[in-house]
Amino acid sequence: MATIETVTGPIDAGELGTTLIHEHLRSRDEAVHEQWPQAKASGGIPEREHPGDGYEAAIEAAEAAVELGVRTICDPTAMFLGREVEFMRRVSEQTGLQVVPCTGIYTYDHLPPFFVGRDPDQIADLFVADIEQGIQGTEIKAAFIKCAADEPGVTENVEKVHRAAARASVRTGAPIMAHSRPASNTAPRQIEIFFEEGVEPAKVQIAHTGDTDDLDYIEGVLETGVWIGLDRYGLEMFLPYERRQATTLALLERGYVDRVFLSADSCGTIDWFPQDVIEQMLAAGAAKDWDIRIVHQRVIPDLREAGMTDDQLERMLVRNPVSWLTGS
Ligand SMILES: [Zn+2]
Repeated sequence: MATIETVTGPIDAGELGTTLIHEHLRSRDEAVHEQWPQAKASGGIPEREHPGDGYEAAIEAAEAAVELGVRTICDPTAMFLGREVEFMRRVSEQTGLQVVPCTGIYTYDHLPPFFVGRDPDQIADLFVADIEQGIQGTEIKAAFIKCAADEPGVTENVEKVHRAAARASVRTGAPIMAHSRPASNTAPRQIEIFFEEGVEPAKVQIAHTGDTDDLDYIEGVLETGVWIGLDRYGLEMFLPYERRQATTLALLERGYVDRVFLSADSCGTIDWFPQDVIEQMLAAGAAKDWDIRIVHQRVIPDLREAGMTDDQLERMLVRNPVSWLTGS
C-alpha cells in the first residue's frame, strides 16, 4: 500500500481517514517573528483568548477536530506562513491528529533576493530536499508542494515559483496545492504552467476555487482534470456560506464528487491583523464560524439535509485526499 508522510512519520494510505484538506495549525510570518518575537498573533477558536506562541490555540483546534472525528489535516503552511514542523509534530503527538506537511512558497508576488537570483530548478532543489530528505533538519518529509497566485495575478515571480513547484512534482511525484483567486481568474494560467512543465492533472489541486459560485468558471477548471478546494467555509468576505453550499450541491449534482475537497482554511492563530481589526471585521460579517469545526458542525449536516449521500461524503473526506496525495 502507498504511504503518506505526516509530521510523525509515514503512514499507510488506509490510515489517513477523515481528512480536512486545508487547515493551518498556525499562520504567522517567520521573518516578523524572528525580528520582533514580541509581536503577537490573533484569532484562534473565537470564544477563547490565545496569548503566546499559538501552541495552545493549535492544540485546541486539533483537539476540537479530533473530537468531531477528523483523523488528519493537510496543513499547507509553507514559507512566509511560518512553517515549523517541530511545532506541528508536538501538536500532533499531544492530540493524536495526523498532520500532513508541505514544502513550497506562499507569495502573491514578493520574493526575497535569494530566490530572485535563482532559477526554478534551483528552487525546485530545495522543495525536493524537503520531500526526499526532510524539513528543517528533521526526518519529517513534505507530502505536497504549495504555491500561490492571488490578486496581482501570475506575475513573473509567481510563475517562477509555479515552475519550481511543477519541476519538484515531476521529479518526486508529490502533488501540488495551488492557492488561487477566482475573482482574478488565476486558475487557467496556473494550470497551464503546470501542464507545460509536464505535471499530470491528477497531481494538481486548485485551492479556493470555492470562493466563486460561477459554475462556468469552476467547470472550466474541472474540465482540465485537476482537483478543486471548496475550502474556505466561514470566510464570508470571499463568498457567503449559503452560496458556497449551493455551489457544492450543484457540483455534486453534476457528478464532480470525485474531484472536490471540503475544508475551511482555518488558522489556529494568524498574525495578519491586530485583534481590534479582527473584531471589527467579524462585526462587519467578514467571517462567521470560521474555524476548524465548521465542516463537521455546519457544512456536513446541511449537505446531508439537502441530499448528500454517505458515499459522497466519504469520497470527499477520505478517498479523494488519498487519491490526490498518492496518485492512486
Ligand atoms: Zn490556506
